[in-house]
Amino acid sequence: MKAYEYSFVIKRPDGTSDVIPVEFERSIRSKSIRITPQLAKKVIKVTYPVYVLHSRAVDFLEKQKNWVAKQLEKVPEKITIADGSKITFLEHEYKISHIPNARRGVWIEDDYIFVSGDIEFLNRRVKDFLKSEMKKYFTAKTHFYAKKIGKKFGNITVKDTTSRWGSCASNGNIAYSWRLGFAPIFVIDYIVAHEVSHLEELNHSYKFWRIVKDIYEGDANEAQKWLSRHGLSLYSID
Ligand SMILES: [Zn+2]
Repeated sequence: MKAYEYSFVIKRPDGTSDVIPVEFERSIRSKSIRITPQLAKKVIKVTYPVYVLHSRAVDFLEKQKNWVAKQLEKVPEKITIADGSKITFLEHEYKISHIPNARRGVWIEDDYIFVSGDIEFLNRRVKDFLKSEMKKYFTAKTHFYAKKIGKKFGNITVKDTTSRWGSCASNGNIAYSWRLGFAPIFVIDYIVAHEVSHLEELNHSYKFWRIVKDIYEGDANEAQKWLSRHGLSLYSID
């Protein structure tokens, strides 16, 4: 546990709050003091040049306090996966329901996700279930798009990354963020089409975007717009 000398607190109307710590970092490459709110990671980064005094970096942050607070308003409300909570997954709204004595693990029935076992494991079990559902979805969609360009792919892994929604390695392995399951399907499919197109072109050249346009049925710009506007909300579910 790191001790933070500086932090911001977001207070919500429902009485809950979030503490967003500030991480100061001296950097050789830094040319000026810079504040970067990393909202998905829930941390504010302040980087400053080696020749700048730490106290000056703190002063700088003090002066920008209102701006930082404004940025923090963009952090969406937290949703905790618990008995009774509601989540939208693959465009379907489900209510989480705990049935302690059932012997079926986690399962979907109509608008419910039922979870058996100890309540203390409910959160992790539901997440594991959603991850494995997403792996099935990603695998099927990856097959679908890869077939369109006649390409083979390697392993598919489902991750919890904060920096990217998907990635494709030169050996054909593809990774996706399971949190895309909380996004609209046209957005999920865009990410899959994007990563599959990297099987042919490992860059973002004109040729690459032509492949995306060829295989993806939706509007890539709309999907990107959705992610830049609402992407953060996919991290608010925990
Ligand atoms: Zn890419």
